Amino acid sequence: MARITDVTARLFTVPLDEILVDAKHGDHSHFHLITATVTLDDGRTGTGYTYNGGRGGHATAAMITHDLAPFLVEQDAENVEQLTHAMDEHLHYVGRGGILSFAISAVDIALWDARLKGTGQSLVQAAGGASDRCKAYAGGIDLGFDLPKLLDSIRTYLARGHNAVKIKIGQPTQAEDLDRIKAVRDFIGPDITFMVDANYSMTTDQAISMAKAMKQFDIEWFEEPIEPDHFEDFAKIRDASGIKVAQGENLHTLHEFRRALPHVDFIQPDASNCLGITGWLEVAKMAKDANVPVCSHGMQELHVSLVSSQPHGGWLEVHSFPIDRYTTRPLVTEDHLAVAPDVPGIGVEFDWSKLTPHEITL
Ligand SMILES: [Mg+2]
Repeated sequence: MARITDVTARLFTVPLDEILVDAKHGDHSHFHLITATVTLDDGRTGTGYTYNGGRGGHATAAMITHDLAPFLVEQDAENVEQLTHAMDEHLHYVGRGGILSFAISAVDIALWDARLKGTGQSLVQAAGGASDRCKAYAGGIDLGFDLPKLLDSIRTYLARGHNAVKIKIGQPTQAEDLDRIKAVRDFIGPDITFMVDANYSMTTDQAISMAKAMKQFDIEWFEEPIEPDHFEDFAKIRDASGIKVAQGENLHTLHEFRRALPHVDFIQPDASNCLGITGWLEVAKMAKDANVPVCSHGMQELHVSLVSSQPHGGWLEVHSFPIDRYTTRPLVTEDHLAVAPDVPGIGVEFDWSKLTPHEITL
């Protein structure tokens, strides 16, 4: 038994070097990082976090401070999974699948951090330990880049040691998207894995037409071609075109994942918005039963441990937000593979002195 004595949320507005654009979320000039730190009565602490594209951080932090913290104080920290589902039930009426999923994720990850610091295990071991490394690809938020700049960014990814890249699509016309896809494939050659992501900007008919037209460029997957809730249509796009389909970053409840899995070829849960490590591992189990590789979205510094830990681990997304500048261990890659940290806890430690200048007073 270890009693929770305190849960503290902090909010940071972390700047991006330039405005990043995709097909659906508008301009990104910064991202919100929301941290949650739990303190236990045996002196242990754990820190978890969630993030967003620059909107919703205040509400997320407020939900942790005003609703989750009072619910958790005095409870036993050891049964993390039970606490996470209890938090979800406690606020289900106002928060189902929304800000609540982000807020719980930060706290769940903090509880996991404290748990693993107690047992001395690394996250990759505790989560399954199938491997200590996984496949990784660089995911650009590059819809606003002109072609020379797009190819420059791809060059940077390859120079960093990646052998897989993803670009955004969703230009005003299909012809413009196809020009960019062709240019990238010509640039990277036949041996680099290549994915595209439409950020759910297309109708099913548009997506089928796009998928058929880009088939010749050997696309590994078509991510979020359409709205996430049109679960069955993902398979329609795949069946009509022969291109594999993926989604997950906009699914925030386990029910949504259960509905999505029969219709996708890759699932991409994000532990920052699907009930933390607990939720991610539950999605991974469902994916295993469905014979679908479990991939990730965002926060590669944490997901590297989760994706590596699974026997059916797929691709780790190496996201464009510069989180590596604010942690003590930037992502490690060896021979194109991302390597999980081997330290007790979640393996993500923030350099608070670098974050503090970006803190928003709550
Ligand atoms: Mg995406």
